[in-house]
Amino acid sequence: MLKKGIKPLTKLGAKFFDKEDIKNMNIIMLGAPGTGKGTIAGILEKKLKIPQVSTGDIFRKHMKEGTELGKLAESYISKGALVPDDVTIGLVEDRLKEKDVQSGIILDGFPRTVKQAEELDKMLESENKKVDIVINLTTPEEEIIERIVNRRVCSNQECKTIFNLQLNPPKQEGICDKCGSELVQRKDDTVETVKSRLNSYFEQTSPLVEYYEKKGKLYSAVVSKSINKLGKDVAEDVVKYIEENF
Ligand code: ADP
Ligand code: ZN
Repeated sequence: MLKKGIKPLTKLGAKFFDKEDIKNMNIIMLGAPGTGKGTIAGILEKKLKIPQVSTGDIFRKHMKEGTELGKLAESYISKGALVPDDVTIGLVEDRLKEKDVQSGIILDGFPRTVKQAEELDKMLESENKKVDIVINLTTPEEEIIERIVNRRVCSNQECKTIFNLQLNPPKQEGICDKCGSELVQRKDDTVETVKSRLNSYFEQTSPLVEYYEKKGKLYSAVVSKSINKLGKDVAEDVVKYIEENF
């Protein structure tokens, strides 16, 4: 019998092992625009200590810097269309080779087509890695539109905190609570563009739900104020699920 308050060593060992495993996870954030992928990925990054990589953020960085890739991406993004597969896959392939993501990654916004998903599987397999879990987010469409037009993001590339003028407003108008930088609205966060983005999602991305479901990787969650579940609540549920199951 162990004395009260002393945990059996095996348990301690197992716990330690689990934590190491969590760091090695490859996580995918899936969902229509405005469902909270970025918000949740940001929380998971901090809690699980796994780096978040957002293809949307990478494109926006290139657009800001005016690179060739940026110009190309902008011509699609401004219309609410997906950037072509060959460009996006090449970009992710390069990013996956970098050192910081060798022991795990949270992919936010990739894959978005079946082709991208198949290529990602190949890339990971060639390194004896795999997708561990796909967080599939859904939100009622009218809430998505409301959320996107009210979204403001921190302009500081190191911070990029996401606010919502209604659901999660900054303490001081136009200023990031975390770092004091200016908040901006994404150019593609307009009512018109959101509709095309939703179309792109339903036509090209939503088949991935079945793709990952069949592989037994899907964790689905509804993000909606109507059931009192916002991004931070879902993020907590996901962390709990991962800690219990991985
Ligand atoms: P959201 O999920 O709110 O639409 P993102 O920042 O993930 O925002 O993406 C912004 C835009 O970048 C998308 O509308 C799309 O045009 C482009 N994009 C991002 N990721 C991909 C991808 N994996 N494949 C193709 N286009 C992408
Ligand atoms: Zn900030």
